[in-house]
Amino acid sequence: MSSPAELGIQYLKGVGPRRAALLERLGVRTVEDLLHYYPRDWQDRRETADLSLPSAAEVVVVRGRVLRAGARAAGPSLSIYKATLATAHGKVDCVWFKHLSRRFDVLASLKKEVAEGADLWVVGRADPDLVGVREIRVEEHYPIADERWRLHVGRLTPIYALTEGIGQRFLRELVDAALSRAADAAPDAVPRELAASRRLLAAPQALRGVHFPRSAAELEAARARLAYEELLLLELAWILKRRQTAGLAKPHRYEVTRRLLTPFRAGLGFELTAAQKRVINEIFDDLRRPSPMTRLLQGDVGSGKTVVAVSALLLAVENGGQGALMAPTEILADQHRATLERTLKGLPVRVASLTSRTPKAARVKTLAAAAAGGIDLLVGTHALLEEDVRFKSLRLAVVDEQHRFGVRQRTTLRRKADLIDLLVMTATPIPRTLALALYGDLEISTIDEMPPGRVPVRTELADESAAFAAVRREVAAGRQAYVVYPIIEESPALDLRSAKAEHARLSAEVFPDLRVGLIHGALPAREKARAMEDFAAGRVQVLVATPVIEVGIDVPNATVMVVQSAERFGLASLHQLRGRIGRGAAQSYCFLVGEAAGDGARARLATLAATSDGFRIGEEDLKLRGPGELLGTAQSGELSLRVADLVRDAGLLADARADAAKLLSDDPALREPAHALLRRRLLALYQSRWNWIDLA
Ligand code: ADP
Ligand code: MG
Repeated sequence: MSSPAELGIQYLKGVGPRRAALLERLGVRTVEDLLHYYPRDWQDRRETADLSLPSAAEVVVVRGRVLRAGARAAGPSLSIYKATLATAHGKVDCVWFKHLSRRFDVLASLKKEVAEGADLWVVGRADPDLVGVREIRVEEHYPIADERWRLHVGRLTPIYALTEGIGQRFLRELVDAALSRAADAAPDAVPRELAASRRLLAAPQALRGVHFPRSAAELEAARARLAYEELLLLELAWILKRRQTAGLAKPHRYEVTRRLLTPFRAGLGFELTAAQKRVINEIFDDLRRPSPMTRLLQGDVGSGKTVVAVSALLLAVENGGQGALMAPTEILADQHRATLERTLKGLPVRVASLTSRTPKAARVKTLAAAAAGGIDLLVGTHALLEEDVRFKSLRLAVVDEQHRFGVRQRTTLRRKADLIDLLVMTATPIPRTLALALYGDLEISTIDEMPPGRVPVRTELADESAAFAAVRREVAAGRQAYVVYPIIEESPALDLRSAKAEHARLSAEVFPDLRVGLIHGALPAREKARAMEDFAAGRVQVLVATPVIEVGIDVPNATVMVVQSAERFGLASLHQLRGRIGRGAAQSYCFLVGEAAGDGARARLATLAATSDGFRIGEEDLKLRGPGELLGTAQSGELSLRVADLVRDAGLLADARADAAKLLSDDPALREPAHALLRRRLLALYQSRWNWIDLA
């Protein structure tokens, strides 16, 4: 072997067994891990230029000579140390607050380091009540006599994610030691020609630059280099995953007999939109190919993805196979089952469902039937992924609201049978480039048209009384309403109204004459199902809910939605929530009630009021919050991106995609010595995480 980077972390000075164990919690085992433990942020700790404009949020950095210093008694458990510094801005008082300890003298090192005549850097916060900073509450200080201050102050300073027992100061010095020891010899995963053609920094410079940048420009160049590497690995992984499926031949073939499709379509009561017909054709074409289908169906909330999914599932059944439909919540799984039973009435299709709350006896029966071929379509939640769920002849699995699931779960479902076809659906529309990065192994079909006759939902910021008046008016006209709260139960930590408490208030005080239902994720399965059935059947007029209804729920007679504490929700969530109404031909109304505290919240809510275009809202949300938030951590964590940002680095992403394709066409299994490290990283990052095996 072996480069110094592969050394265990305990070979660095200051790391004993205790700290090694703590570092392991951060995923740092080797010197190499440490080199790749990038900062989560960089703080500008150059000397503060203007002390006359203090802001409580800002860190103030000064350097100067100690004029006088000493401890002040402050209380039974606290002691205060004060020093006056002569700085470029004149005299500045600095205060250290220290908790007393019985075991050692917490002021001892302060007394030594912050003594009269000493030169110091001080980092802290200004007292916001004073005009002009004259007093700083010290957070960190560094004696100039110790050269190591250069790692911590007077520069763009790295800020790391920490764990208990590991501080910023220690970690910075440790990273510095790792860099001195191993950066120059750090193996470079990006092949040299590529780095040259993309004008990227070499690994040693990039690692130094990301941890201890000498300028903002250097930081950006370093970050870009490391981001490129991550994106290259991601794109390689996607191509390989895709190639793996493309090389397979599935055992079944499809023939479109329309034996079930025709009566299904005839019974729908509406004509499919042109977009629905187009995507059904895309899916059918794909199904008829010899290799398994892996396709993403995108379509805004309410665009009618369910009938597309059912059409595909029926094709599987027409051909003597079975289909599975997986949804992220029980409520949605129940609804899908009800929809299937309703729209397939009279057709020879046997439907069953399975969730984690299915009673034992029913579960045993369902499992046996699925395995024996006594069920044609099985609907369910994550429960479908369990080991003991087996099928006789599963051909097609559909994953609804797939952004709620991860790549791994998707792959697990596929393993349920040899080489099945997979259709995943999402109502979180995102730009195509981003979709390719996130779902790189999928072909994409898009429904870009709403069923006819939809009236856009009218959305406004409102106060509660106006919103409730509208609820009354609509209910009087025979319609129904949702009132959504961000949390199930009151909590001392959050000053928010909750679904449970408000359900009591709304039924007793606000709408005593109406039937007010309640639904949230913590209800037992049976109660959830009953609440949804009552609402769908019109027996309940006002449904108090949590965001559990955000995905998929379809009750076209509901025309009002009141979102309480709307500022607590992200744009994409609000859009999904609002998608529960406006599903019929009647005008619907969405009221966003809340604090609208801060410009951010107000701007978000205004965007929502101004447009109902899910693509635009998705893009806006991406800009505001980044893909992690939008898509859920399950998915973004899976991509192993630490510095790359799929939105900001769209250009790098395109480069990486092209380069990955070229690399693999020249060297399909990454066998060349120049690609050895790339191959190793690729397997380390994605093989187990994606439940994905091939690089033979
Ligand atoms: P989503 O894409 O959000 O899953 P759904 O499949 O739940 O949307 O469909 C929303 C509503 O629109 C349902 O009530 C469905 O029956 C109805 N729908 C679907 N396609 C059409 C169509 N072509 N014309 C009229 N209504 C339709
Ligand atoms: Mg849906």
